[in-house]
Amino acid sequence: MNKELIVTAGRVLAAPDGAPLHDGAVLVATDGTISAIGTQAEVVQLASPDVDRWDFPDKTVLPGLVNCHIHLAFDASADPAATLRNTDDVALLAAMTERAGQLLDAGITTARDLGDRGGLAAQLRNAIGAGTAAGPRILTAGAPLTVVGGHCWFLGGEVTGDASIRAAVADHAAYGVDVIKVMVSGGHMTPGGAAMWEPQFDARQLEVVVDAAREVGLPVAAHAHGTDSIIACVEAGVDTIEHCTWLVGHPAEGRYGTPDHVAEMIAAAGIYVCPARSSNWETFKRLDSLLDRLAWMDRHGLKVVAGTDAGVTGSFFDDFARSLGLYARAGWSPARVLAMATTEAAAAIGLADSIGQLKPGFSADLIAVDGDPLADLDALGRVRFVLARGRVHLPPAASGSQQHAAAGG
Ligand SMILES: [Zn+2]
Repeated sequence: MNKELIVTAGRVLAAPDGAPLHDGAVLVATDGTISAIGTQAEVVQLASPDVDRWDFPDKTVLPGLVNCHIHLAFDASADPAATLRNTDDVALLAAMTERAGQLLDAGITTARDLGDRGGLAAQLRNAIGAGTAAGPRILTAGAPLTVVGGHCWFLGGEVTGDASIRAAVADHAAYGVDVIKVMVSGGHMTPGGAAMWEPQFDARQLEVVVDAAREVGLPVAAHAHGTDSIIACVEAGVDTIEHCTWLVGHPAEGRYGTPDHVAEMIAAAGIYVCPARSSNWETFKRLDSLLDRLAWMDRHGLKVVAGTDAGVTGSFFDDFARSLGLYARAGWSPARVLAMATTEAAAAIGLADSIGQLKPGFSADLIAVDGDPLADLDALGRVRFVLARGRVHLPPAASGSQQHAAAGG
């Protein structure tokens, strides 16, 4: 149980596409849910006399951010797989806990971990849920399903055929994963396996993955860089396509295949796309080509959500705001980018009814930032206060500048 608390701010955005509330307030119940939102005049009178009060008259309060694609087990170094190999589970869990704190510092109150080792992300999720560790709400996939020696095989998710796929999905479900991740194409991190543009699984095998996941009530997140792999994902009916790079050859060649009818199928099926781009888009050699593909997906009405692949080389846990700058560069409005990282992201991961907006009954996940993110998206990089399921977290940048008044004490 937390204390009841009230957060007030000069500007409160209940949702990215709504009108801002001026001199707004959010009342948070002891169970960590929002009990009221409105103007300060309306909400303050609903609070109990000894409510904990946090006032941010010159800041914007908005829903906590959602990162749909991270890897807590990776350290963002030049060779995360090597670090992982040399780290035992005890040390790895400690490092993952520290990274979860960095996510909170960046205003991320929910993160979906799409591949770790030994079920450690589930352990951390449970510790955070129980309040014994600080971090965002975590959804975990456990070890991604992959072929023998395939992409990220070292995480422990190798499968060899239909029976093996079904057994792996059942095992994952038994220890309580939130989503099944499958490596449909090759990737960067695994020498010797399929190349990024080549499929590891065909549509029929993927149908087995999706069917097994449906049997245990879990969604499927599919890693797919190549166009052939993306097509297999659509045919099998996965829930989210991760990366969705549309490669048809080695990335250095810069060849992409973007069939309109496939984009139309993704849109019609309501499959979410997470480009999983870190802040290093700023140095990307083929940025124009990436922007073209984003614009093309946009023209076809694809639902694009925010994720960073945090943990892979050069993708850090504390710079979500800079990664979102990619979409601003693509010409998308700040309100839309904010939706990608809140309401739309919540919908993509199955939590549209409890997070992503500030509404009575929703989880009290919110942040206070300097500036107005609807006018200047960079404001998301100036997080001064975080509430995650009603628990206060002060990012390092905020220490000394907090405006906390415990009433009645
Ligand atoms: Zn990833």
